[in-house]
Amino acid sequence: MTVKGHMVLALLPIAAVMGPEALHHPVLLGAAAIGAVAPDIDEPGSYIGRRLPFLAYPLRWIGIKHRTLTHWLIFPLALLLFALPFRGEPWFPITIAFIYGVFMHDIGDMLTKRGIRGFFWPLFPKMTTRFLPRPFALHTGGWAEYLLVSILIVLTGLLLIGADMEGLLKIVKTAVVDMGRSFTEKGVALF
Ligand SMILES: [Zn+2]
Repeated sequence: MTVKGHMVLALLPIAAVMGPEALHHPVLLGAAAIGAVAPDIDEPGSYIGRRLPFLAYPLRWIGIKHRTLTHWLIFPLALLLFALPFRGEPWFPITIAFIYGVFMHDIGDMLTKRGIRGFFWPLFPKMTTRFLPRPFALHTGGWAEYLLVSILIVLTGLLLIGADMEGLLKIVKTAVVDMGRSFTEKGVALF
């Protein structure tokens, strides 16, 4: 999944829950977006790896392969465990937003063909977790991902500006029904 895809996948649920209110918390949004790209620090060629090579290369040198430790469920859980004693600290919500982003990154990678192997490590270390059956899974950087991410970006934007989603849904529904009707009418006319 691309950087944009990971970010929008983390931001969309926040936009859906908080609506325009989310824009009053840019630091939380930023923390979630950074968390959403953080696990790829295990790949020096990735967006985050290229920006933080002093972290990415040592991880590679100690033998951490791409889509392993930083992509396993144990990683956000461990971060959460370290953060919990600091409840009440002003930066605690920012940390939680970051950890949430990390988790959402994994969800994004699970939508791709490769999925995440060993996600529940140390349980089922050889199992690959993928949401969609292989033929339907996204190809990183492919057209299906591009299309999905574009739709999600528009949707997130609409939610953040507080667009009337029900009204929009109605318009789409009417358009689809009209289109269907005109097709069937034409079909009937042919016979
Ligand atoms: Zn990843």
